[in-house]
Amino acid sequence: MTAESPGTGSLDRVPLGPPEITDADIGAVVDVLRTTQLSRGPAEARFEQRIAAYVGTRHAIAVNSGTSGLHLCVRALGLQAGDEVITTPYSFVASANALLYEGVVPVFVDVNEAGLDIDATAIEAAITPRTRAILPVHVYGWPAAMPALCEIAKRRGVALIEDACEALGSEIGGRRAGAWGDAGVLSFYPNKQITTGEGGVVVTDDAGLAARMRLLRNQGRAVAAADGFDQVELGFSYRLPEMSCALGVSQLSRMEAVVTRRAQIAAAYQMGLADCEALRLPAAPAAGTVVSWFVYVVRLSERYSAADRDRIVDRMRAQGIECGRYFAPIHLQPLYRRRFGYRGGEFPVSEAAGARVIALPFFNRISEAQIARVCDTLRRTLTTAC
Ligand SMILES: *Cc1c(COP(=O)(O)O)cnc(C)c1O
Repeated sequence: MTAESPGTGSLDRVPLGPPEITDADIGAVVDVLRTTQLSRGPAEARFEQRIAAYVGTRHAIAVNSGTSGLHLCVRALGLQAGDEVITTPYSFVASANALLYEGVVPVFVDVNEAGLDIDATAIEAAITPRTRAILPVHVYGWPAAMPALCEIAKRRGVALIEDACEALGSEIGGRRAGAWGDAGVLSFYPNKQITTGEGGVVVTDDAGLAARMRLLRNQGRAVAAADGFDQVELGFSYRLPEMSCALGVSQLSRMEAVVTRRAQIAAAYQMGLADCEALRLPAAPAAGTVVSWFVYVVRLSERYSAADRDRIVDRMRAQGIECGRYFAPIHLQPLYRRRFGYRGGEFPVSEAAGARVIALPFFNRISEAQIARVCDTLRRTLTTAC
């Protein structure tokens, strides 16, 4: 447990987003280690069943990372070099990298100012004869406009892949993130709502896609034939170990409490920073929308520059408060500039956000005293740093 020492002025560091690991989690992993089946066993089947039931899809395929899951979606949907996928530049690089693995071209569309999710109204103008799919990202747990995106995908005859890696538990109108698209991808990296160490799951209602992904995650091998001639296509080694699956089952069993606790922490920050004019706080979700908070990110107002933001983050760290700067827009990464010729200025909303975001410490066991200390330190730093 993280017992905060008396007095919030204590010099203990407040970390950014450590995972919550309970004794039950440890027991579940150790139980697997006492067996001889460390891969492709009962924990994998159990984890897949529980995730499918939680998200509300027919199938779930466990893989060794969210990125692997996105890659399997691209492969299983048959996307090929030169095809285009419409996606958001305001995301973790994995959502676009998964396209590059197959030579698929990411066609970026800028995001909405409020939720930093892809602007559905700008998508149709980006569709070309080569467009094969739309790949929205539920950034920070804020669900993208799935009803509108589904409608566009259906009408234009393109696939819909949901990057729900930051949004396990988020929902719109009672339907969970991941359950809207042809396939959805979850991640269980240690800073996510729940973790398996490394890991991911693809969820889908499509039995054909599910079967294809099961094959592809295991070298492209069909159900093992006795003679060993079972490799039917070129696949990958993307399996998730039993230890990770068991940890996932144990973590998922507390999911309701996790979503509730994270909402409380977000509300405490929202209140603690409400009157801070220099900050733009996360928007309130629409009625019927549930945000399962991945991180809590504030944006500095327009009068601050990226250099101001960096100085504030450095000063916060110097005072023992870990902060993050995500996301830097994908199209401005050196690789993407080099490959696609981006120079900055193409996606103004993403770029303005990327320059001014500050992710604050956010984890299940953060104490009220730690939240207060983060708020106080941020206020003080804002008035002195710029
Ligand atoms: C975490 C994350 C992923 C997947 O990351 P892995 O480390 O490969 O599990 C993909 N997309 C987004 C937006 C993410 O935040």
